[in-house]
Amino acid sequence: MQFEKLATMFDRLESTSSRLEMTDILAEFFKTVEPGELRQIIYLSVGRLHPEFYPQELGMADKLVLRAISSVSGRSQKDVDELWIKLGDPGEVAEQLVVKKKQMTLFSEPLTFKSVVEGLTSIETSVGKDSQDKKMKLLARMMHDAGPVEARYICRIVTGRMRVGAGAMTIMDALAIAFATKEERPDIERAFNITCDMGLVAETVASGGMAAVRKIGVTVGSPVKVMLAERLRSLPDIMDRMEGKCAFEYKYDGMRVQAHIRKGPGGFVKLYSRRLEDLTSNFPDIAEALSRQLKGKEAIIEGECVAFDPATGNLLPFQNVTHRRKKHGMAQAVADVPVKIFMFDLLYHDGVDYTLRPYSMRRAKLEMSFEEHRGLEPDKVGYTTRAIISSEEDAQTFFDQAVAAKCEGIMAKSLEDVSVYRAGSRGFLWIKYKKDYTQALVDTFDLAVVGAFYGMGKRAGMYGALLMAAYDPDTGKFGTACKLGTGFDDAFLAALPGMLDKYKSEKKPSSVEAEMVPDVWFVPGVVLEVTAADISISPIHTIAYGTVKEDSGLGLRFPRFTGRVRDDKTPEQATTAAEVLEFYQLQEERDGESPSEGGSEE
Ligand code: ATP
Repeated sequence: MQFEKLATMFDRLESTSSRLEMTDILAEFFKTVEPGELRQIIYLSVGRLHPEFYPQELGMADKLVLRAISSVSGRSQKDVDELWIKLGDPGEVAEQLVVKKKQMTLFSEPLTFKSVVEGLTSIETSVGKDSQDKKMKLLARMMHDAGPVEARYICRIVTGRMRVGAGAMTIMDALAIAFATKEERPDIERAFNITCDMGLVAETVASGGMAAVRKIGVTVGSPVKVMLAERLRSLPDIMDRMEGKCAFEYKYDGMRVQAHIRKGPGGFVKLYSRRLEDLTSNFPDIAEALSRQLKGKEAIIEGECVAFDPATGNLLPFQNVTHRRKKHGMAQAVADVPVKIFMFDLLYHDGVDYTLRPYSMRRAKLEMSFEEHRGLEPDKVGYTTRAIISSEEDAQTFFDQAVAAKCEGIMAKSLEDVSVYRAGSRGFLWIKYKKDYTQALVDTFDLAVVGAFYGMGKRAGMYGALLMAAYDPDTGKFGTACKLGTGFDDAFLAALPGMLDKYKSEKKPSSVEAEMVPDVWFVPGVVLEVTAADISISPIHTIAYGTVKEDSGLGLRFPRFTGRVRDDKTPEQATTAAEVLEFYQLQEERDGESPSEGGSEE
């Protein structure tokens, strides 16, 4: 396949914001490519050469790409840099300059898809002395043979700016249309949820059909999308919903980790965050202890890593464990911040996929799968404290114990046979109840930054407020929920531009629905935790649009940043439209009257 064919398809995707149209473009395209190529096409569509959980990234700096553009176009570095300042995207600079040169060149030949993948792989794997120069030359070589649109996408891929707007949901819809039926779409989604590898799923369905997709199983080394909990506003509501009996576990305030352990020759331990980042180097002590204490050869388990005070054994709040999320000085951080993992689930053990087994069976197997700790130092591996609860009194007592033990609250888990591990979904098989639910609004919101407003007065010259959005999985779009300007300290305000820079977008990203127009747009990437006084019907915000009132969305009133950047969550894992609506309805029930309209624009 010529690379031009793929670049043209990306261009078509980018020029529409309609999910249906994107699905059609993709489905039609998928049918025309070799199954072997499809895998890499899927990765490239998000600017990668591997699945999301694979740590390597192309990540070339803009300056280096601009040097390549200058060398291949024959234009001075000054000219190239000036155009870059005007356009903001090296891809567009390349599109304008490189092509003009190409039209005069006799020695260029059309770029094939294969040669682009090879070129990108060489860029990704160049390391050491002179590697920057090598990367620049490899890029220039590809651009020499590129047409206008191809040059734009090659530069976007290498600079991490590849955003054609088609999310995972759209790609799965398209795969179902191209190679299966609408009814089989859930099986495609399950395969993706248990492997986090859309390239693998696409290649499998294109080459082996749905029979092959159904054979895809949980594999050690391939992270599984995490199962999430719903929330209810009181313990009696939880007991009701669970029909009088369920398991309660402490809800620890730490960092969720999914551990993939393989012992013996060729073995490894990998710890993944729920955002699929590799956390193994942040918790080497936990990785070692899990591997040492695991009975059998292979397992996938989940747990919460929590910091504790070695003198008292008391658990410490979430902020402490974040000291482990460093790139450098890990040995010191390991010594300074002792951490323990409280395991709560088992997804796989020695050839058996436990994700489709009920919770009780998974928990029992989990408790059988680790050796007792031997040694003088504190045990780094343990299980979440748990009990079977069948009365409201016991529920309250267990909750009080959890809070006294410095936990956030409890997780109730269904004991029914249907209580399987539902990868990638939030449901009532798990219900959380936190101590801060007694405050005005139940729970905090995790919202994605989609825009920023320049500050005034004391905040002149920096971002003064942010436009925040929640995700709607049904439409694949982010709808705005508030303008956030409170709760920021000076250090955070100073760090904001650096944190947001790589998500900057020249225009409103196609995944964002907004009425409010900020000074700067961002592709959703950074997630912040926000509290609010309440939720009101809003004429200017777009989340849950039209669900409560025609032509209106919902907006958070008096939103405030809690100080917690949710870098463990992707924007799609942030609070959803359905949850904002649910909060609104809970609040209405609580107040017994409709809250006032408007006022959400602070
Ligand atoms: P929150 O912001 O409340 O942590 P969340 O959206 O991150 O919520 P939820 O599924 O709503 O995730 O809450 C479950 C989270 O609580 C898990 O992701 C995990 O990190 C943590 N947790 C702590 N203890 C437990 C437990 N015993 N069982 C399951 N999850 C637990």
